[in-house]
Amino acid sequence: MPQNWDVIIVGAGHAGCEAALAAAKMEQNTLLLTQSVDQVAAMSCNPAIGGLAKGHLVKEIDALGGAMGLVADATAIQFRTLNQKKGAAVQATRCQSDMLVYKTVMRRRIEGQNKLVLKQAEVIGLLEERGRINGVLTQLGEQLSAKTVIVTTGTFFNGLIHIGDRRFPAGRAWDFPSLTLPEELKSLGLKMGRMKTGTTPRLDRRTIDFSKLEVQPGEKPIKPFSFWETSVPLPQVPCHITYTGKASQKIIEDNLHRSAMYSGAITGIGPRYCPSI
Ligand SMILES: Cc1cc2nc3c(=O)[nH]c(=O)nc-3n(C[C@H](O)[C@H](O)[C@H](O)COP(=O)(O)OP(=O)(O)OC[C@H]3O[C@@H](n4cnc5c(N)ncnc54)[C@H](O)[C@@H]3O)c2cc1C
Repeated sequence: MPQNWDVIIVGAGHAGCEAALAAAKMEQNTLLLTQSVDQVAAMSCNPAIGGLAKGHLVKEIDALGGAMGLVADATAIQFRTLNQKKGAAVQATRCQSDMLVYKTVMRRRIEGQNKLVLKQAEVIGLLEERGRINGVLTQLGEQLSAKTVIVTTGTFFNGLIHIGDRRFPAGRAWDFPSLTLPEELKSLGLKMGRMKTGTTPRLDRRTIDFSKLEVQPGEKPIKPFSFWETSVPLPQVPCHITYTGKASQKIIEDNLHRSAMYSGAITGIGPRYCPSI
């Protein structure tokens, strides 16, 4: 394991994967360090890629030679263009991808890329010399130097999960949070804030009577994300829509005081989150 690198990237989420592939394609010896190699490019919540504002971002990344659009196409199981009744400027591509296949395909790209090494390690500190960051310190005590260090630790810094009236530190659900590196960045004078998002409970499809739901098929013909030569090989599936009624409204009203959103337990701000209701 070399100790000296051109570029070290901390965190193999969506941002870290793009940064690592871009650096390696520019002939830089690149090391991508991440807490779990089984969670490379993991999707946090629903399996959507794109949507309003985010779809434009995916297409821009694609136009710049990035991987997300190609991997989204390769793993998509449904495509839709949102806001079709409105003007072209506010329309957006969104696909649902198979979450497990997505992270497998992205990991394969990372591991197949020349000049790029993926390694499992938590970074707990930054090395500094004369006011310049020149490396990282891992949880196992390794000191690795680099001309450039890129931190793409996403949603994990001081991560905290609320489930009803319970809360515990975590990155994504059941992943470790990153607790030491944020302190290090604070000590360098960087300001930290907290943002929030929400996510729905996962449902067991065996408990759902699909015959009572509204079917929402995907779009035909499919308009993929990527502008390059791309393919959509997986079989396409529909989404299903349901609505709340009086019974579900009563359950919510009777239990509102247990919701972290309403009890005052959540203090972070967020531009928008994915509420269950
Ligand atoms: C509960 C929840 C639900 C969400 N739902 C959606 C959704 O439905 N749709 C949507 O588009 N977006 C959703 N998001 C947002 C989406 O997950 C993020 O925008 C996206 O993951 C950010 O990508 P990223 O690469 O910046 O970071 P992340 O995907 O968070 O990846 C960061 C990576 O860095 C690693 N890491 C962190 N600290 C260290 C360290 N010290 N050393 C080494 N590795 C480290 C982590 O292990 C992780 O692999 C949701 C987020 C959350 C938390």
